[in-house]
Amino acid sequence: MRTFSPVEFARLVTRYLRDYPAIAAFPTLSPERIAEAQLVRLRRLVEIAYHGSEFYRRLYASHDIAPEDVRSWADFRRLPTVTKDDLIEHHDLVPVGASAVSRRVRVSYSSGSSGKVLKILAGPDRFITSALMMLRMYRSAYPFSAREDVALLYTSTYPYLNFLNPFRIRYINTLTPPAQMIARLERMRPKLVIAYPSILMELTAAFESRCRALGVRAIATNSEQSTQLQRDMLADVFGCPVFDEYSSEELVLGSFQCAELRYHLQEDCAYLESLKVDSDEPVPPGRVGEIVGTCLVNTVMPFIRYRQGDLAAISPANCSCANNGRIMSDISGRKNSSFRLPDGRVLPSGRVLDWTYKLIIEHRLPIAQFQVIQHQPAWVEVILVGMAGYRHEDSARLVAQSFKEGLGDGIRVEVTQVASIQRTPAGKHLPIRSFVT
Ligand SMILES: [Zn+2]
Repeated sequence: MRTFSPVEFARLVTRYLRDYPAIAAFPTLSPERIAEAQLVRLRRLVEIAYHGSEFYRRLYASHDIAPEDVRSWADFRRLPTVTKDDLIEHHDLVPVGASAVSRRVRVSYSSGSSGKVLKILAGPDRFITSALMMLRMYRSAYPFSAREDVALLYTSTYPYLNFLNPFRIRYINTLTPPAQMIARLERMRPKLVIAYPSILMELTAAFESRCRALGVRAIATNSEQSTQLQRDMLADVFGCPVFDEYSSEELVLGSFQCAELRYHLQEDCAYLESLKVDSDEPVPPGRVGEIVGTCLVNTVMPFIRYRQGDLAAISPANCSCANNGRIMSDISGRKNSSFRLPDGRVLPSGRVLDWTYKLIIEHRLPIAQFQVIQHQPAWVEVILVGMAGYRHEDSARLVAQSFKEGLGDGIRVEVTQVASIQRTPAGKHLPIRSFVT
């Protein structure tokens, strides 16, 4: 992605000096104040979308809704939800008029498990505001100073990083081979590491003692689904706490774990709701539903009540930490990465993931990486990458037996050993996949 121009960077610095204290304090406002601020932003966004985006204007007009009708939370909840398919189908009509053709607009892509790609447009303000929110979020994991290095292991650099290095955030591409990556980390000695969990698992599998010796003070994981068990394991090897982030390209920042390991919503970045999968009805607080989000920082391409496709529960704020953001739990990954079994049972991907990790840890199986694929309702394949000392015959029998017990009778389980597991074009590892719809 194109880096910031000097003018954009100057704006980032001005915004940092002017707005960062308020942004840093936002999560500590009372839940009522947070909700009030959100409603103001939501109403403004609906107005921008209605007057600037042909897609939203037509959609709201077809429901007989004008922006001035949206005054309360109840009004907001009457707005129809939109799906990724809707936005892909009408992609020319979604962006807000003149702002979308500006040369300052940046383009990113969100690839769904459906294989369809959504092109996302965003202006500099979205990157500037979210950079400040991201700084707050990562500094809640470890309050790094301007003299301490932060390693960002990611598929692409952030556009402002060439400049924002007063904060010394160093970018390492995820495609860097593990041996080079650990060597770079050893030279850098970062206090905070931000990375995909699968990249860290690869590093710990190959270089356990060197990971421990890095002296990392905190880790933030993002972009891929991981389980608490897996993160506890990483915390053990690196000797520091691990905090997980739930975010998406569309909604920008979703939630981040606090010291109590609760996922607090980043309420000023995106307003999230949990709705029934097949309707716009909300599910009760604390019950799992589909995550539907409104991005509060992108006014070039609005995402309003956007069906993210992930399943999770949302509960009111209630945590002993200072953050009054609502709490997300039971993040079960994408609704189409769950396993649907022939007897009608649905196994969320998180459960399959946890189950596999427990199996590996309990039996101390020397496995570097795995992928569990449901090819057909009654056919599951477990793909494994072994490490030194891996004996396929023994492990395969154990894994197959354990999966058969869990999945029940009549499910064919195959265990395959491979040299490596292919990542997605975006460099992500998908531990759980289902081709059963
Ligand atoms: Zn908390």
